[in-house]
Amino acid sequence: MTDREWMHKAEEVMANTYKRFPILIERGRGCTLWDAAGRTYTDFVAGIAVCNLGHAHPKVAQTLSRQAETLLHVSNLYYTRPQTALAAWLVEHSFADKVFFCNSGAEANEAAIKLARKYFQDRDAPDRCRIIAMEQSFHGRTMAALSATGQEKIRAGYHPLLPGFDFVPFDDLDALAAKMGPHTAGVLLEPVQGEGGVRVPAADYLRGVADLCRKNGSLLMLDEIQTGLGRTGALFAHQHTDVVPDIMTLAKALGNGLPIGAMLAGKKVAAAFGAGAHASTFGGTPLVTAAALTVVETMEADNVVANARRMGAYFKQALLRLQRRHPVIKDVRGLGLLLGMRIAADGDAVVKCMMDKGFLINCIQGSILRFVPPLIVTSEEIDALTAALDETLAEVS
Ligand code: PLP
Repeated sequence: MTDREWMHKAEEVMANTYKRFPILIERGRGCTLWDAAGRTYTDFVAGIAVCNLGHAHPKVAQTLSRQAETLLHVSNLYYTRPQTALAAWLVEHSFADKVFFCNSGAEANEAAIKLARKYFQDRDAPDRCRIIAMEQSFHGRTMAALSATGQEKIRAGYHPLLPGFDFVPFDDLDALAAKMGPHTAGVLLEPVQGEGGVRVPAADYLRGVADLCRKNGSLLMLDEIQTGLGRTGALFAHQHTDVVPDIMTLAKALGNGLPIGAMLAGKKVAAAFGAGAHASTFGGTPLVTAAALTVVETMEADNVVANARRMGAYFKQALLRLQRRHPVIKDVRGLGLLLGMRIAADGDAVVKCMMDKGFLINCIQGSILRFVPPLIVTSEEIDALTAALDETLAEVS
């Protein structure tokens, strides 16, 4: 079949849940992708903040192939070394004492919501069951994660959603304080809203949320699925502050493309999950955890987080310089290598034009261009992208 026929077949046989661009991607290396026609693209999407070490990383590939020849899967009724080693790495590098593995971000948030409820039900406080989430948040597509997602366009069509979720505007401590009460089990938020528009709150916001949680006896639940593992220039975004969460969720970059999610918690809260309280057949399978362990160890050995911090600052400056040249750019926002710019032009047209020039970027909320390259991106790749964006913005405006 020709490439066009493959794409046509996909439209025919696959659920139409994605609006895809007409390219058939065949392979990748580092920050570069090749389509089936042999065209190359510099990837500033990275599977949406997933492939932090870039594509086809040789160490990850080697671990995968070794592990595939050794043991792919056993039930969580038994112990395996890769799973324990990855959990130990996460515990050592975070506030947490315990890790629950699952397969995606949505599932990690499901686990977090269940744990928060169970924690208070175990303490004979079943009425303390409500979760406060943020307007414009994104926590995933499963029913509880969707019920915690503060975007009606994503929720529409699926009502009734689960009861027990309240919403307040992001970056508004007064609104949060007014909504909190004896029924509030936890406050769930992204330290920087990703899908909601790359929104960075005020510097003291997270501290304020943590203080309100402590005062009210509620759990602080951080969704670091997009911001975690170096994306914002710290291993976890909350580490830019002195805030310590009660629960944190991870996914995306943890496997660099292998499907894995994780829910982390401190000892006291995690104790609410006893044997049989929660489970996942594939959660923490040896193949995926062996790969994820190589991912985090490589990140550490290669100082990838420091590169994200350096390249993030370099990239943001370049985008701010573009803003001075193009009035169509309304703002530049973001932290580390989670960057965005709001434009007064058709975002999808910019994305398409950039693709024609050999760069993959994406557009969220209709008018916000998001840049989430692999964290190994170089200043040369950033220069090339900003030069192409300079031309593109001149063309579209
Ligand atoms: N939480 C955040 C902050 C996300 O950005 C995403 C995905 O974009 C999710 C949760 C859901 O993750 P998944 O698609 O792996 O279920």
